[in-house]
Amino acid sequence: TTFNDLNLDEKTLKAVLEAGYEKPTPIQEQAIPHAIMGKDVLGIAQTGTGKTASFTLPMITALSQGRARARMPRSLILCPTRELAAQVAENFEQYGKYHKLTMALLIGGVSFKDQDVKITRGVDVLIATPGRLLDHFERGKLLLNGVQIMVVDEADRMLDMGFIPDIERIFGLLPFTRQTLFFSATMAPEITRITETFLHNPVRVEV
Ligand code: AMP
Repeated sequence: TTFNDLNLDEKTLKAVLEAGYEKPTPIQEQAIPHAIMGKDVLGIAQTGTGKTASFTLPMITALSQGRARARMPRSLILCPTRELAAQVAENFEQYGKYHKLTMALLIGGVSFKDQDVKITRGVDVLIATPGRLLDHFERGKLLLNGVQIMVVDEADRMLDMGFIPDIERIFGLLPFTRQTLFFSATMAPEITRITETFLHNPVRVEV
C-alpha cells in the first residue's frame, strides 16, 4: 500500500509526501481507509506507530469540505496532556499546511482569553485536554453540538489520569450523528465500556 491508495485529498497527500513519508505505517494502512469512509475506528496502538497521522489525515480530508461557524468547532481531538495536545497540533499544521483550516489549542497554562477569541471566530478543529475544554464549555463560550468528528487519543493515559468521567461527559455533549476515532494502547475494562457506549459499529484495528 502507498499513500496514493488511501483516498486522501490531493493537498493532504502532497503535505504527507513532503514530510518525507514513503509509505503508510500498519496502523495508517488499516485505519485510514475506514476513517475516510466515515466509519468509527477503535485503534489499538502505542505511541511511535504513526497513530497521529492515522486520525489527522482523514480528518483533514473530511474538513476540507465545509466551513466553521462561531463557537461551534467542527471536530475535536482530546488528548490526556498539554504536551501531547501540542504535538498533535503541530502534526495537524504540518499535514494541513495546504488547507485553510482553523484550529484552537485548549490546554492549561495558556491564556484563556486568546483561546476564547479563536473559538468565537470559529474553528475547524479543537485540540484539547478534557479539563480546559470543560472549563470553556461551562463558561458558556463553547458549543459542542456541531462536532462531526471526535478523536480520543491515548485513552489508557486518560484512564490513568482520572479523566474517564470527563470523557463521558464530553461525549454526552456531542451530537449522536458523528464519527468517532478512538485510540488506546491497551484495553482496560473501563475503556472497553466507553467504546461500547459511545462508538457506533467501530472497525477495530490493532497493531
Ligand atoms: P506517532 O506514533 O503518531 O507519535 O508518530 C511517530 C513518528 O513517526 C512521528 O515523528 C511521525 O512524524 C512519524 N511518522 C508517522 N507516519 C509515518 C510514516 N508513514 N512514515 C515515516 N514516518 C512516519
